[in-house]
Amino acid sequence: QTELIKGAQQVVRTLQQSGFAAYMVGGYVRDTVLGKPIKDIDIATSALPEQVQALFTRTVPTGLQHGTVTVMLGKTPYEVTTFRKESDYVQYRRPAEVEFVDDLLEDLKRRDFTMNAMAMDADGRLVDPFGGQTDIAQRTLRCVGLPHERFREDALRMLRCVRFAAEYELHIDAATWQALLELAPLLRHIAMERVRAELERMVEGGHPNRGLQLLADSGIVTQLKMPLHLPLSKQAVARMKELTRLDADLCRWTYVFMAAGSDHSLVREDMLTLTFPKQKAEQVAKRVEADRYLLDGLAVLPAADRERAALLAPLWKKAALRYTGEALRDLIRVYELDAEAGAQPEPYTAACRRVFASYGEAWLSEMPAADVNGLRITGTELVAHIGQRPGPWVGKLLQRLLEQTALESLPNEKQPLLAAASSLYEEMMNNS
Ligand code: ATP
Ligand code: MG
Repeated sequence: QTELIKGAQQVVRTLQQSGFAAYMVGGYVRDTVLGKPIKDIDIATSALPEQVQALFTRTVPTGLQHGTVTVMLGKTPYEVTTFRKESDYVQYRRPAEVEFVDDLLEDLKRRDFTMNAMAMDADGRLVDPFGGQTDIAQRTLRCVGLPHERFREDALRMLRCVRFAAEYELHIDAATWQALLELAPLLRHIAMERVRAELERMVEGGHPNRGLQLLADSGIVTQLKMPLHLPLSKQAVARMKELTRLDADLCRWTYVFMAAGSDHSLVREDMLTLTFPKQKAEQVAKRVEADRYLLDGLAVLPAADRERAALLAPLWKKAALRYTGEALRDLIRVYELDAEAGAQPEPYTAACRRVFASYGEAWLSEMPAADVNGLRITGTELVAHIGQRPGPWVGKLLQRLLEQTALESLPNEKQPLLAAASSLYEEMMNNS
């Protein structure tokens, strides 16, 4: 970290020695004042992009039209951006044009929140025209200037507002919050990719519950460009208190949808609407669906049997074959948490999820094979043994054998598998 800072100071000094103004700005200054670890250091300068490029040996033209050049010192990149003023915001997002200015103050003025609108020179002296330090000391998140104007210029700032308030546990200044409540409908202009990036950081960050709470309180989730089915009510969010204790992101999203009471068949769609990668959408949906499958399976058991562990094992194993053991392991973590949150609408559901949480891992490890690849017999061997042309029956037969090893104590060994295959094949042929 000191290397990172030294490098930035070197970039700032080089610019200064050539007669330009230069400062460290944005997240770095904020995190330093907050005493938080820093990730990267952005620099603002009066030098124009071509002047920056001329001063350093290794540069990357990251965003010349916005005034950004990346300066490389060794392997460390520093984004150096020309002081600018933004005007003519179009479509409630990104300015139509940027105007380069030679004044730091003008540059700080266009920034979103007071804590993000401070600058620091190479000697660590702070420039803080909007009271960022005071706000940080009072743990207040406040727009620079008039909140209504700032959110109208760029609606994404409302999501950033919620994300920063969550991430840094700040309370949102009254005028800023009021403007956010009134202008939340402007979020329909923001691309879902941007929305996802902010939500992802919130849910997967250090204080997901606070972020979700602010989203629910502000009604932001119901005002997006594309509607979500996720019913993020305040009561549902109250149930998500312990979310931080789930460290895997798949578990967190699964828990969010489950605790919100999402319809399992709409989870995938919501994840895709949020522009998550298809695989992640699939994985989260699979977990919520597995939960539904388990609950539906429970519903047909006589009430008195529902909490008897031995009776739940086959259901659990079937779910594992259908949705993978990996998915069920994640569900175990979700169930453990849910049991502690103690907020189940139906007591027997809660009781059963507790049973799954306690025995699930053991049941999974009892299964001799987690999927058909784990069977001690291959499709080719099966074809040779049965003596028929290969076809869809091979996959089906392997699946049946897998189920028998998991549920009916068929040993996962070649001879017993082949013997079972013969009779299962006949059964399949007679039934079709
Ligand atoms: P982090 O990187 O942790 O998200 P950051 O403050 O560095 O925090 P960036 O998105 O990297 O956030 O932006 C750098 C700086 O640019 C911010 O600190 C802020 O001053 C300014 N900024 C970024 N986005 C906006 C915006 N939408 N409106 C106004 N200013 C912004
Ligand atoms: Mg940053």
